[in-house]
Amino acid sequence: MPPSDAANRNATRWAIRIVPIFIFGAFGFSAYAVVAHLCVNYLYRQKYQYGTAIALIVLYAVFYLLTLWSYLRTLIIANTDPAFVPYTERRETAEKERKAVKANRKAKGGDIESQESWLPADTDPDSPGLEAFYSKDVFICESDGRPRWCSLCWNWKPDRASHSSELERCVRKMDHLCPWVGGMISETNFNFFTHFTFYCTLFLSVCLGAAAYCLRLQQKEGRSLDGIIVAVLVLAGLFGFFAFGMTATSARYIFQNITNIDVLRQDQQQYLAIRVPLDSPSTPTYWTVTYPLTTSTRAPLGRNGEPPPPADGRANVPSESKPTPPSAAKRDAAARRTFALVKTELGENPFDLGPWRNFKSVMGNGPLEWLLPMWHSPCCNHDSIHSDYEFGPLIDELRKRYKLPATDENAEANGGS
Ligand SMILES: [Zn+2]
Repeated sequence: MPPSDAANRNATRWAIRIVPIFIFGAFGFSAYAVVAHLCVNYLYRQKYQYGTAIALIVLYAVFYLLTLWSYLRTLIIANTDPAFVPYTERRETAEKERKAVKANRKAKGGDIESQESWLPADTDPDSPGLEAFYSKDVFICESDGRPRWCSLCWNWKPDRASHSSELERCVRKMDHLCPWVGGMISETNFNFFTHFTFYCTLFLSVCLGAAAYCLRLQQKEGRSLDGIIVAVLVLAGLFGFFAFGMTATSARYIFQNITNIDVLRQDQQQYLAIRVPLDSPSTPTYWTVTYPLTTSTRAPLGRNGEPPPPADGRANVPSESKPTPPSAAKRDAAARRTFALVKTELGENPFDLGPWRNFKSVMGNGPLEWLLPMWHSPCCNHDSIHSDYEFGPLIDELRKRYKLPATDENAEANGGS
């Protein structure tokens, strides 16, 4: 790892520890400045504007509590449940060994950043974790039909997971590492993060409004400029603008069902494995692969540096479906599934369910979930038998575009609708 990477990583780690302390300081300062200094001392005691003072204090308290609550919820989850993809057993053991080496080097006063343990994609057809993909009907894959591989975590990347170089882990529906909330924004706290930026905008608007109102009164009285009012105006204005920008961006991501990472990869096409009837052959327009992989299906899948067969239709290979070897258990035979490999066009998002369903998949199904930072997003549930995350109408569109044969379930679903 180049030294600059290590330095960046350390800087990020320090930032995510220090910035939250600054935020708590800002919360404390605002309570003193807005409530004690402006509302109580000035409006209530000096100007006798009881109604205005109380109304401002109530608004302040409501948004203060909602902001603080959603902030703590985001921060705690970022540090306790950041949607890490579990390590494989092998990687877990390697990680323990790496930590031991690191501790040993530290004790001897050496460089504590040990070498990254990089591992190429597992070529074992029975690679642990593959079944989690082919037991679903659709999954994101590489051009060879296998799921995406993380060579640093040594695991198959679930749909929408990305590797965070700062945290050195794959994270489900990773959005960004946020120093403001002291950790990773991912599927487990993106909704709470949105609550935070939304309530923070309203909270800072109240601070801004109170400060501007008092400034106007004091100017009419001909008093000299109050330093605390100026500080509130500058800080609330600056951070309010920033929080509003973040809220707008989060809203866009929610309604489009995308993440920061998706925005960075907008110019990339995605390969999808879509289930087709068992042993469907490859055609001139798409290639098929049957799971569980067998030794014979391994060869065309890029072993020995052979290029993987293109999934865009130029492949002239026979179907990779082979009779189940006699050694395979009956259970494996029953679990055999064939997938067609297809490619999305630029800018197509297979997870786009339409704005309203996109919103509900992140923010929840009812007003309480939309308003209070209490419940996890419905998209954190990966129990569906069809896919890890719900796919949108693009899958049906791709079935038509590539003229994929319907599975029995598809035929029933289409016939019944
Ligand atoms: Zn990873």
